[in-house]
Amino acid sequence: MEQTSIEKKRELIAKLNQWRYEYFILNAPTVSDAVYDRHYDELERLEQQTGILMSNSPTNTVGYEEVDGLEKTTHTIPLLSLDKTKNMGDLMRFIGSQQVLLMHKLDGLTVKLEYENGLLVRASTRGNGEEGEVITHNARAIDGIPAWIPYLERLVVVGEAYITKPTFERLQGTLRDSSGNSYKNARNMAAGSIRCYDAGACAGRGLVFTPFGVLEGLDEDADTAISKHLRLNTLKLLGFSACEFLLLIPNPTEQQVTNSIAELQASAEDMGLPIDGIVVTYDNIPFSLAQGRTGHHYKDGMAYKFEDDLYETTLRDIEWTPSRFGELSPVAIFDPVEIDGCEITRASLHNLTFITELELMPGCHILISKRNMIIPHIEENLSRGRFNAVDVFPAQCPCCESPTSIKEGKGDKGKVTRVLCCNNPGCANQILRKFVHFVGKKAMDIEGLSEATLKTFIDMGWLNDFTDIYRLGEYSFEITSLEGFGVKSWQRLQDAIQRSRKTTFERYLVAMDIPMIGRTASRELSRYFDSSLDDFEAAVIGGFDFTVLEGFGATLHNNIHAWFKEENNLKLWKELQKMINIEKKDAPATSEAIGNPFAGCTIVATGKLVHFTRSSINAKIEALGATAGNAVTKDTNYLICGEKAGSKLDKARSLGVTVLSEQEFLEMAEGA
Ligand SMILES: [Zn+2]
Repeated sequence: MEQTSIEKKRELIAKLNQWRYEYFILNAPTVSDAVYDRHYDELERLEQQTGILMSNSPTNTVGYEEVDGLEKTTHTIPLLSLDKTKNMGDLMRFIGSQQVLLMHKLDGLTVKLEYENGLLVRASTRGNGEEGEVITHNARAIDGIPAWIPYLERLVVVGEAYITKPTFERLQGTLRDSSGNSYKNARNMAAGSIRCYDAGACAGRGLVFTPFGVLEGLDEDADTAISKHLRLNTLKLLGFSACEFLLLIPNPTEQQVTNSIAELQASAEDMGLPIDGIVVTYDNIPFSLAQGRTGHHYKDGMAYKFEDDLYETTLRDIEWTPSRFGELSPVAIFDPVEIDGCEITRASLHNLTFITELELMPGCHILISKRNMIIPHIEENLSRGRFNAVDVFPAQCPCCESPTSIKEGKGDKGKVTRVLCCNNPGCANQILRKFVHFVGKKAMDIEGLSEATLKTFIDMGWLNDFTDIYRLGEYSFEITSLEGFGVKSWQRLQDAIQRSRKTTFERYLVAMDIPMIGRTASRELSRYFDSSLDDFEAAVIGGFDFTVLEGFGATLHNNIHAWFKEENNLKLWKELQKMINIEKKDAPATSEAIGNPFAGCTIVATGKLVHFTRSSINAKIEALGATAGNAVTKDTNYLICGEKAGSKLDKARSLGVTVLSEQEFLEMAEGA
């Protein structure tokens, strides 16, 4: 059973099948009968000698079978897919100090072959991993599947059935799938062909089977019992053409792994093999089994992918949602595709330019990926040529029905992109998005004002501009009578609103939502204007050139000036400041110093206080940015008066100094 005789045999089968095709189908034989017979006899002799008959051998007397449908079969050992990565670091961590095999990740359909007493008894597809379809009748039509082998124990082999790149190119124009469309790629063609009911139809499609693993059998020998690569080598002796692999030394360097991947990529290219990555798997079988599995994957292997996988589906609808600046954001709704165990039905379409370039319309067949395995993305449209912008871009805002317009903007890398806009500032969804932004974590950070709650309050007419949030108390009764809104949740929400009154320059500016002024720009403005909203406002009014600031270009400069020119914006800017206190973020020691009424004042305390000792009240006064005085003079601004106050109270009264109870002082200090 030399491997050379097995290779010789496959060569003969290929030649003889070609000659038979020329003779029977084309009626144009290229060799004489004598040549044909000589090759045929040699093949038969080799088959006897090796004890291996390939299913597709012309000596195989079984004809091409046809079935009525594909029977289901349960995989007793589930055929799970491998975990994937595009990241070398992940791969190196997976390898660790183990000895691993690197092999081609063939891009076709996974097939399982079962042998008993040396005979192929069943071939089945992977299906969903738990249950597949029986395709035994097509084994006759696939290259690389032995019909009988010189091994009598039960043997279960898994591998990939695929179509090589040259074969795909040759057949692409002529073959049609069941819906009459031509096949988009070699994988689809392989999947469609292998499920043919008629083996005769399957036979002409150049399907090849290459095993990548053994699920049962080959464990009677001590070496093959524990080593995957030795099992693959044994398969070659049984007539299979096992998947090409490289065995790495334990603890390989990243360079060694990278080189091996490049070597396998090159060999796949040479052989015209369709691969979409490299499989990395532990060689040691007991170690592999000990790794166990997750819901979807065995943990003994990992697929290193060159690109994100593509999944075909049908685009059903495009949803347009107004953003807070009036841009209508398009989202694709498509038939569900399962990617890595998650069902995906939506992906952003970004803007009109993206839609136009891909010619996307409802009904199109599209290819979806999860970019970097995270974000769903439409990669390609398979049914181009029918695009019509008028049918796709709505003329009216789906939210408020005002006419839409197209605006040009700059997208990634300065590329001009076109966006669809609703120009109605009263568009309900725009208003809702603005409130969502205002209460968001990076802005005023009001917990409990969810999108749904905001929508309810807006619909009730309680929220018209941001200052209304701080007046919601007027509707306490109505709010607590809303369904799902008890006294407790209202109290929690009120607490959150009160807490938000104490904020920073940065948050306040983010909340104002000047276009493109986000956290980074706000931080820079806060630094430059020393967290003073007044100084910032004065600078705007004075025509300040913001491009002198780090990271500020003409766009940001213009956005700020344009925003303040709007009367409503300026009004909001001023009104809202009356309701909040700005604290200086970068000076925690005097964090209470800014935005409280005591900053810069001189304060004296007298009498017995409830919450403070003499020294702790002075510390509190200093913390507020005020000076703690000992005696009441004409420079004293406030006297905090506890029980049993003495002469200081009289003095304060005579000088007209404001006298505060301890409670009043605390309330003012908290900004409540
Ligand atoms: Zn609108």
